[in-house]
Amino acid sequence: MSAIQSQSENSGTRENLDEVGQRRRTVAAAFSAGGALAGAIAGFRERPSQQQMALAVFDTIAQRATLVAEAGTGTGKTLAYLVPAVLAGGKVLVSAGTKTLQDQIFDKDLPAVCRALGARVDTAILKGRQNYLCRLRLERTLAAGMLDSPADVHALQHISRFARLTQSGDRAELAQVPEGASIWPAVTSTRENCLGGECQHFESCFVVRARRHALAADIVVVNHHLLLADMALREETDSELLPNADVVIVDEAHHLTKIAAEFFGEGWSLQQVTELAADALRVGLQSAADGAQWPDLVRSIDNAARAVRLSLAEGGTTRRVRLAYDRLAARGSAPAAIRALDRTLVALQDAVGQNHGREAELDLLLPRIQRLRQIMQAWHQVPPDRPAAADLDAVRWILATGQGAQFQTTPLSCAEPFARAREQRQQAWILTSATLTTAQRFEPFLNEIGLPGSAALRWDSPFDFARQALLYLPTPMPSPQAEHFPELVAEAAWPILRASRGRAFVLCSTLRAVPRVARRLRELMDASGDPLPLLVQGDDNRRAMLGEFRRLGEAVLVGSVSFWEGIDVRGDALSVVVIDKLPFAPPDDPVVEARIRQMKAQGRNPFYEYQLPHALTLLRQGVGRLIRGDNDRGVLMILDERLLSRSYGKTILASLPPFSRTRSEADACAFVQPRPSPEPGPPERFEGAEKVQ
Ligand code: SF4
Repeated sequence: MSAIQSQSENSGTRENLDEVGQRRRTVAAAFSAGGALAGAIAGFRERPSQQQMALAVFDTIAQRATLVAEAGTGTGKTLAYLVPAVLAGGKVLVSAGTKTLQDQIFDKDLPAVCRALGARVDTAILKGRQNYLCRLRLERTLAAGMLDSPADVHALQHISRFARLTQSGDRAELAQVPEGASIWPAVTSTRENCLGGECQHFESCFVVRARRHALAADIVVVNHHLLLADMALREETDSELLPNADVVIVDEAHHLTKIAAEFFGEGWSLQQVTELAADALRVGLQSAADGAQWPDLVRSIDNAARAVRLSLAEGGTTRRVRLAYDRLAARGSAPAAIRALDRTLVALQDAVGQNHGREAELDLLLPRIQRLRQIMQAWHQVPPDRPAAADLDAVRWILATGQGAQFQTTPLSCAEPFARAREQRQQAWILTSATLTTAQRFEPFLNEIGLPGSAALRWDSPFDFARQALLYLPTPMPSPQAEHFPELVAEAAWPILRASRGRAFVLCSTLRAVPRVARRLRELMDASGDPLPLLVQGDDNRRAMLGEFRRLGEAVLVGSVSFWEGIDVRGDALSVVVIDKLPFAPPDDPVVEARIRQMKAQGRNPFYEYQLPHALTLLRQGVGRLIRGDNDRGVLMILDERLLSRSYGKTILASLPPFSRTRSEADACAFVQPRPSPEPGPPERFEGAEKVQ
């Protein structure tokens, strides 16, 4: 019996209260100056806010209640939830927003906590099945030898070698094959193409092993995609991790609603169609070569998929910009192209049906085709009259990529499924992040997540922001809508970047602005005869660019949204963060547009309840890159004049860390001069840096 079960069943008894009290004292003691963590973790120091958060988490677990906790950068929130979770006992599910954090919790933080507490806890990590090699599909892909791209052939050699050596089968361990490589769908599985118990590799299957271990473990580290797949009953996990957990801890909880929208909606993609066709060709030729004209059937599907992509281009889609389906040039030739694609799938479905029983993998294609056709058909059944905005509960949109396209239905609210999931189970839920509030208020997040009225606590960062950082708002700046705004951003930032000798991130709120800002910076560097290394998003993948940034030491990195979050560059290596404008989501994005329309129809204020909180979350994440440790210092430069000219600017400034502020370029340049020694302390003249009114 777990500690939590025993506690719940005997609640109210003297022994139980004593036991809970004792464990609570152990949690508090672990965070003290001479406690278990200080003795085992290098650099650990006592932080009252961390200890308070740990006790709040412990109390929430003991009461199987809900806690929403915002903890500023440097609070040490991971330890603040792991310690009480380990000491409380029971089955714990920890969910991270990104795979990077998931790996860090499992590989570093959790083992460190267990060591420090001397706890013997069985821990496991579980990712979505597409992260693990599928032995069967790898074997069949090797046997088929049908890869025509040299890059795929090369990658397959690496993967084949990796499969013989790996214990986990987790593709993240194979650095030689990039995450986005086109070979991965051929050697990993989906729920639709996995043979399950009928597979000859079932007992040694990496997916099966990872799930079995996760089911048996005390603490399982997952990511939000897996957690939400479980919650949306997509059977992506098959393991029922969520129902069996006593405690659910969601880190980076600010990502939750965005990822939830993907899972609670439904969609299909051209990539899904072409992957299905590729599988049909391989399986058909391998197991029923005489059963159909497989190459002809698959060629028709590929051609029809290409025609759909073409119809989208003609209908006005732009690459990587979501477009509302009903805006697609009144849908032009797209519906006809999609109907033609469906007919090619019917032909394949018939061929597979006629060969039923010849091979298990071939049989699996049938439900897969049927399911895909069902989603496609449901997706395209647009009501003749557009429903009133207030009645809309979902929006259909299209995203065109290189050769492909995604067709998605996104619900406008995820509050209900979350509220239902919370009510159904007697679990403790802890949702935490550094950025959940808007001007210290939790309501927008709590309402969006369907948990209004839940206990919510916040702890400010322990850093001395007024001493360590300066917010520089240059003057004058034109409107962010001005034609040459990206070039003006570069011109305004250059003196600071030069004074700091690089060591800077320039964060743009749109991908479009990145090359323009970078180009102008390059011109300014060349003209001044003072070049600094310039790294521009798109030059390489994010991890490689960050490695290069750290290695170069004096670099300026220009990037968009993917560089605003989840990056931890400590010390003098990062001393300036420039933000071009407030990161409001584009109001013509179909999901944003539909939500605004719906909230207006409901008599609500979409700007204050939705647009501003979301922009603030991203802005605070971007700002959070600057000060990562007690000895870090630097300048945050925001070039959006709306911060001072609009009434909501006050709300935004009240939500940012309490940096000293200045409008003086000279002050900002002096503040970021490279330090001659590691810790000289701040120059005296900045203690009273000019306040921005
Ligand atoms: S059980 Fe499924 S995932 Fe595992 S090897 Fe077989 S087909 Fe692949």
